[in-house]
Amino acid sequence: MINAVKGTRDLLPPDTRVWNRVEETAREVFRLYGFEEIRTPILEPLELFVRSVGEASDIVHKEMYAFTDRGDREVCLRPENTAGVARAYIEHGLARAGGVKKLYYIGPQFRYERPQKGRYREFRQIGAEVLGAADPASDAEVLVMLFDFLRRLGFTGLTVSLNSVGTEECRPRYVEALRDYLAPHIAVLGPDDQRRLEQNPLRVLDSKDPAVKSLVSSAPQMLEFLDPPSAAHHEEMLRLLDAAGIPYKIEPRLVRGLDYYTRTVFEVTAAGLGAQDALLGGGRYDRLISDLGGPKTAGIGFAIGEDRLVDVVSDSFRAAALEGVPVAVIPLSPDDRGYAFALASGLRERGISCDVQTAAKGPGAGLKAAEKRGSRLAVLAGEEERTGRSAVVKDLIKRTQEKVSAESLASYIREREKSQ
Ligand code: AMP
Repeated sequence: MINAVKGTRDLLPPDTRVWNRVEETAREVFRLYGFEEIRTPILEPLELFVRSVGEASDIVHKEMYAFTDRGDREVCLRPENTAGVARAYIEHGLARAGGVKKLYYIGPQFRYERPQKGRYREFRQIGAEVLGAADPASDAEVLVMLFDFLRRLGFTGLTVSLNSVGTEECRPRYVEALRDYLAPHIAVLGPDDQRRLEQNPLRVLDSKDPAVKSLVSSAPQMLEFLDPPSAAHHEEMLRLLDAAGIPYKIEPRLVRGLDYYTRTVFEVTAAGLGAQDALLGGGRYDRLISDLGGPKTAGIGFAIGEDRLVDVVSDSFRAAALEGVPVAVIPLSPDDRGYAFALASGLRERGISCDVQTAAKGPGAGLKAAEKRGSRLAVLAGEEERTGRSAVVKDLIKRTQEKVSAESLASYIREREKSQ
């Protein structure tokens, strides 16, 4: 027996229907806001994430699927997609086209974390990035789009947690204040948090350790250290979010797990996800592109954990995605198979999903199988129907049946499906 690698999983039907519907909705919403898809490789140079996500981040420090390939290249399976988008943006000179680039992606990411409910080693993210837009209106627009998407999936009552982590100019003063605050409490910090304090003290704000959490709850707040342009950026974004009716709360200690953020950072958590309740996260990264060797380019984006999203998507969205089990076309004898095939072709030409059920044990078994998989209608084709160019449509739920002509079969079925 060979099983899937620990922390990875197969997505099977009918669940894949829900995944597809979620992705279709994402594509539709992103298109409405002028975003285009980008697909970057799963395999990237290790260096890309060391220089963007950051050496001190948990992701790079201990969760990378990194290895040396046969050509002695240091590569890894991407742990997130923003860095890959930034790399592609630079590599293909997308900045040269001028203006704002709005890109989205959907795909698998890899992190060597301890697997548990809602946390996998291979998981999928749906994300969007706006490159070349420094204005706070972009921060607001990205959040408006995000909430539009979540609303279409049936989410209500979600709130985005927001903070600003400032810029390279004003953050050092804050980091110093945070260090001064934490220094006398060093004994409270475990080895991981001590390393974080050393390498990047902001990370300590993200600690999962309850004692450290309570310690940082009274730490100084970045929002009080923002320089005037960052403070103005934050205020203008909030004003636009108010105008758009986006529900938010300010979370002064939100920093997120990646190093490349500047100014805006945000996160949405969802009830029903258990311990791993972060549904999505994002923020502004005005230095990422230049840090990676590209031209100075502002950026903002988000990544939604698709596995978690599918887990808590509304019942009505799920039910709609699961609808539409194919109609079963059942020949009553081997002689009727050709006619059943012709009926099925006619239905498909008119956009009706169906298949021909040829159970070895005969039409009764075919009907049972159709019922079991949730088909609502079955089309029976026997000798009488074949010679009379007709079919018997059986409603497997209401237990009724009616004979209809072959010509009117598709429109009859369509009517029946609508009346469900
Ligand atoms: P991040 O890229 O760390 O900002 O994460 C963005 C979102 O991806 C999170 O809010 C989660 O929903 C999702 N995510 C991150 N890591 C995992 C994981 N190991 N398993 C499932 N989802 C994850």
